[in-house]
Amino acid sequence: MTQRIPVVENILNANDRLAEENRARLDAAGVFAVNIMASPGAGKTSLIEQTLPHLADLARVAVVDGDIATSIDADRAAAAGAQAAIQINTGGECHLDAVMLHGALNQLDLTHFDLLIVENVGNLVCPASFKLGTHKSILVASVPEGDDKPYKYPGMYRGVDALVVNKIDLLPYINFRMDFFTSGVQALNPNLITFPLSCRTGEGIDAWIDWLIQNVKRKT
Ligand code: MG
Ligand code: ZN
Repeated sequence: MTQRIPVVENILNANDRLAEENRARLDAAGVFAVNIMASPGAGKTSLIEQTLPHLADLARVAVVDGDIATSIDADRAAAAGAQAAIQINTGGECHLDAVMLHGALNQLDLTHFDLLIVENVGNLVCPASFKLGTHKSILVASVPEGDDKPYKYPGMYRGVDALVVNKIDLLPYINFRMDFFTSGVQALNPNLITFPLSCRTGEGIDAWIDWLIQNVKRKT
């Protein structure tokens, strides 16, 4: 008789326990934390770059960037005004997990920050399965990716607390049916708060900033 060992389940349980520990550390320091997820190129780093100047006098921000290689994104976050920017190179892993964030938190004095922005590795599949301990999960979708993504990656859309639809300045040039996209989102995650915006032109960014600031204030 064969015995099946639920390896994946055990890994996820261990991850969830450490995510709870991360959350406790963030809460103890009064830091509100978001986990930003998206496919590569949707505009996670651009969103962070556009967001940081709006928070300059309102919140002390640390950014943790996950990428398979390079420190390009952390360098961009630091240049845009993050008080601390830590790059995690996953060495091939296509998502961040709670262990990696735990390591990054060890490098920060959390009492110096109000907001922690975590930029996950660009991927629309596994980041949804690995809790980090952050308070809110944010998905960045973008117009050039196409309007069918909620239908193709339901797991990602189901688990998030807010949705940013980036690159709306490209709507006139791309066959992106907003109603079809929105129907797919609503079926998976009814009443999901959604911010259509353009990181390039700045259109729509204020509503996103307001939401973020409200959440930071609630936490501190
Ligand atoms: Mg990036
Ligand atoms: Zn992965």
